[in-house]
Amino acid sequence: MPFVTADTQQSDYDVIVVGSGAGGGQSAYTLCMDGAKVLMLEAGRNYSHTESSMFRTPDVAPLRGASTPDKPFGFFDATVDGGWSVPGEPYVRASEEDAGRFEWWRARMLGGRTNHWGRISLRNGPYDFKPYSRDGLGFDWPIGYEDVAPYYDKVEMLVGVYGSNEGLENTPNSPARCLLPPPTPLVSDRLIAQRAKRLGIPAIPGHRAVLTRALDYKRIPARLHPGNARAQKILAEDMRARTPCLWATPCGYGCAIRANYQSITVHLPPALKTGNLDIITDAMVHEVTLGRNGRANGVNFIDRLSGQEKHSAARVVILAASACESARILLNSKSAQHPDGLGNSSGKVGRYLMDTVGSSVSGQIPLLENLPPLNEDGADGHALYVPWWQYPEQRAGKLGFARGYHIEFGGGKRMPGAGTGAGLEWLTGGGYGKKFKEDVRRYYGSFVRFDGRGEMIPNEQSYCEIDPGIKDKWAIPVLRFHWQWSEHEWRQAVHMQSTFAAIIDAMGGKTRHPVKTDGAEAIAPGGSIIHEVGGAIMGSDPATSVTNRWGQTWDVDNLFINDGAVFASNADKNPTLTIMALAWRASDHILERLRRKEL
Ligand SMILES: Cc1cc2nc3c(=O)[nH]c(=O)nc-3n(C[C@H](O)[C@H](O)[C@H](O)COP(=O)(O)OP(=O)(O)OC[C@H]3O[C@@H](n4cnc5c(N)ncnc54)[C@H](O)[C@@H]3O)c2cc1C
Ligand code: SF4
Repeated sequence: MPFVTADTQQSDYDVIVVGSGAGGGQSAYTLCMDGAKVLMLEAGRNYSHTESSMFRTPDVAPLRGASTPDKPFGFFDATVDGGWSVPGEPYVRASEEDAGRFEWWRARMLGGRTNHWGRISLRNGPYDFKPYSRDGLGFDWPIGYEDVAPYYDKVEMLVGVYGSNEGLENTPNSPARCLLPPPTPLVSDRLIAQRAKRLGIPAIPGHRAVLTRALDYKRIPARLHPGNARAQKILAEDMRARTPCLWATPCGYGCAIRANYQSITVHLPPALKTGNLDIITDAMVHEVTLGRNGRANGVNFIDRLSGQEKHSAARVVILAASACESARILLNSKSAQHPDGLGNSSGKVGRYLMDTVGSSVSGQIPLLENLPPLNEDGADGHALYVPWWQYPEQRAGKLGFARGYHIEFGGGKRMPGAGTGAGLEWLTGGGYGKKFKEDVRRYYGSFVRFDGRGEMIPNEQSYCEIDPGIKDKWAIPVLRFHWQWSEHEWRQAVHMQSTFAAIIDAMGGKTRHPVKTDGAEAIAPGGSIIHEVGGAIMGSDPATSVTNRWGQTWDVDNLFINDGAVFASNADKNPTLTIMALAWRASDHILERLRRKEL
């Protein structure tokens, strides 16, 4: 009976996992495969990958699939019941100015944001866990790369990540046979790589959670679950049911053939198969409850279908509701013992919120005009990327900012949709009839785009707290966000702009808009890159952090945070692979302590 309700749930769960995205999915998988009884509580509705619109084309969508306030990433984007705003669930921004604004993307569905994320899966490097030791800014993590590396290996093998080992500085290699082979780059990617190389900028195969070939179901289960024959059998069967990528459809629609990573297609099916996982959907958790002994004994939630308050009990509670939402649950869990919220004796819950530094430049390349029509929708491009390459210049003090960025770039011909042929006037001077059609054919596929993804240093002015007045439709107090960039991030964004313009120039093209030289204008608003982390950072000292090296709150022994809230820094690498690796590591720790009857 895997999908249960508040009335049919059991009373003897080992662990409650709040949230079913990357952190929650990984936690449930690891715990259930090793025999723990888990109850997962998910605020969104039940959702299946079979709902994906991957085989539908923009011409059959309203407005040809154009983005709307309800569907900002287009009509067929996999997000349901979410986006930049969630009906009935507001949040407050202390500033509406671009420089101090924070945007919050939420998905209310089983699997959370893993249904439509970009699948870019980069490992943090050794420097990324010890940033303070290197430049005196921000915080070191209480763990190092060597602690997380074995879990990166496991996650890569389980979910299936393509990529290559290049041996570049702070860009870790994976052990042999962890990664799947990378795909063939598009012609636009090759041209970018060739011209970037002339500028000393290396473009190498990207790392994405997409199956370029079938997973090795004979070898991997034994490596992931040694000595656990049942788990190996379940995983082998599940791996065989996943199909390699067809290379023809946009991944943001979700993948009906299970070729990419979504927690609903990779983590939850084997976890459910064990019989150890129960799931309640439409369960909006708002409070961790404590027993008389001061330990967590469960959670209170609103059943969104009936509006009624419900309770679930377990020996251990894991919050994995996404970084800000986990901080919100902690802050709303007030009691006489914990008047400022649970886990908050340090006053650090909600603090040190970070996003990724983002800045973009697009351009048009005459060399790419009039190429033959091709479907280049497959796996969203991203066959190549540029890891941060200017460590020597930074060490020599030539850059004027700390930390680095990587470059995601793309071009090619997607299935034509609402925007096709629009906005060409800057190249054509305008046109209609036959000339317009010729222009569209000539220019379609000749555009390239560069997105910088850089490290933000945590600061005291970027945080969330409970708004004293506003509540959501369930009467749960909401978050208020404060946001501020520093000179480091602004200068980094300006560096991105000039780098991207130089590559476009080296390709013989021109930029679509003037390059921005003011950092505050060049940088995307906080939260808009959707890599928000922090809010319950891990550390070595209970006075300055919320959790220890296992994501276990200092204040409550059996309460763990298994999402991005625990990040003590936010490297340029996209966070989700690290969220999963940490969740697996913390879950192994929980299993060990459950076995020893310490929890
Ligand atoms: C368009 C897009 C592209 C992205 N691309 C990338 C990328 O390429 N690489 C990368 O690393 N990251 C990417 N990300 C970010 C990535 O999606 C997140 O880092 C990741 O999903 C975070 O995992 P999580 O488990 O913490 O949160 P989520 O995946 O958001 O899951 C949290 C779950 O908890 C549920 N929940 C929330 N509150 C409650 C509550 N109170 N009670 C019960 N349940 C609750 C939510 O409904 C949700 O299902 C992208 C995100 C978006 C939106
Ligand atoms: S490109 Fe591949 S991974 Fe992406 S949706 Fe299509 S089949 Fe799935």
